[in-house]
Amino acid sequence: MKERCRETLERAYLFIDREGLDESERRSIEIHLEECRPCLERVGLERELTLLVARLRGCSPCPEEVKARIARQLESF
Ligand SMILES: [Zn+2]
Repeated sequence: MKERCRETLERAYLFIDREGLDESERRSIEIHLEECRPCLERVGLERELTLLVARLRGCSPCPEEVKARIARQLESF
């Protein structure tokens, strides 16, 4: 896995949480995702899962389990 991809995915998971990212960081993630299909697919899946979990629980996103799972994925690369 490329270093750039790892960085993007680590940031993207902050993006999912909607915390810790300013406009320029969000933009740099978006640019990478436009160029890198594997990352786009991975992030897209995580975002949908996060939204689904939030909807099922009927409350604000509870990303702890999503975070833990993404952290495991990053370790496995
Ligand atoms: Zn990538």
